[in-house]
Amino acid sequence: MTTIYFDNNATTKIDPLVLKEMMPFLTDYYGNPSSMHKFGGQVSSHIARARHQLASLLNAQPDEIIFTAGGTESDNTAIYSALEAQPGKKHLITTRVEHPAILNVCRHLEQRGYDITYLGVDEKGLLDLEELRAALRPDTALVTIMYANSETGVIFPMHEIAKIVKERGVMLHTDAVQAVGKIPINLETLPVDYLSLSGHKIHGPKGIGALYVRKGATFRPHMRGGHQEHGRRAGTENTASIVGLGKAAELAQLSMEIENTGVKHMRDTLEKGLLKAIPESIINGDTESRLPNTTNISFKHVEGEAILLMMDGFEIAASSGSACTSGSLEPSHVLRAMGVPFTYAHGSIRFSLSRFNDDKEIKIVLKELPEIIKRLREISPYKDEEGAEAPKRPCTCS
Ligand SMILES: *Cc1c(COP(=O)(O)O)cnc(C)c1O
Repeated sequence: MTTIYFDNNATTKIDPLVLKEMMPFLTDYYGNPSSMHKFGGQVSSHIARARHQLASLLNAQPDEIIFTAGGTESDNTAIYSALEAQPGKKHLITTRVEHPAILNVCRHLEQRGYDITYLGVDEKGLLDLEELRAALRPDTALVTIMYANSETGVIFPMHEIAKIVKERGVMLHTDAVQAVGKIPINLETLPVDYLSLSGHKIHGPKGIGALYVRKGATFRPHMRGGHQEHGRRAGTENTASIVGLGKAAELAQLSMEIENTGVKHMRDTLEKGLLKAIPESIINGDTESRLPNTTNISFKHVEGEAILLMMDGFEIAASSGSACTSGSLEPSHVLRAMGVPFTYAHGSIRFSLSRFNDDKEIKIVLKELPEIIKRLREISPYKDEEGAEAPKRPCTCS
């Protein structure tokens, strides 16, 4: 039995076509693209091609793309670049629902004397753009706001955000790791300065990503050393992965329509079916402005981890909105920011689909999950605790 994989916002399967494209660079073509000899030099044209493929997906210029070791490095690079380029400015604006690759950098910066504004979200996971406007200050070095949320799939109105931020001449970064490949992004009409993306979220390999840096935007390298990437990111190129990311970008561009028809249809069938079959279940996050592949559903009075474990028995892989922190089960920071009541937040499951899923898999989940929830509710310790505080219990997950 193969795994029914509904955890594509965590990571994705490498597309077989991507792997095929990568293989020669892990075997025969191992030369260093910086070498003077032909054996090495021939590799650099393949890196150039990947840069074109990625630029094409984003409607950017190839020399605006810097290859990095993933989404996390791109996020770190963007933030530190903006701060280093504007040493007098000590204020940043972000949101409470970012990925840890942003939030933990911000927390670290706070300890170093920076002032951070964390914008909140409403119960649908949406921002108040007036709050953003009011938060901008003369000493704001950077606004960093994700394009789409990994946990709920909620898409932020990046064009409106960019208008507000650029009107004030402030630098803007977006972590677009979850948006790239799922919704069209046109950097010719979207005036962000920096944009992060990651290979393994778009059916490419892990450990590779890119940072888009708009032509003319100030930039300071995060990694210093050799002259690779025109001195903007030192280190011998990860050729195979760069080639893989390029191919993944090309395939993402070709699959964009499938993503917004076939994948979306599967997601909607799953969502509607679960809501219908399972009483006291709710969708977390705005359903109007949302990625086509993601649904985050809460089942009242059950524990997300327990649902995951039982689904695992049927080889169904998804992810839960609560995580073990400090020995107790805490709902995710995203659901907490949205104010989802704890009786619901604890039982939240994220299903994130891809073009490699099919209707048969949806049917299996629709058959098994209602039974799982029913059984768990029968033994739920929460049953009589309506509105009570979350009981502190030992953590059972690792
Ligand atoms: C996965 C993810 C990252 C981190 O990317 P890596 O390539 O795993 O370092 C950053 N931001 C978001 C929104 C993500 O989903």
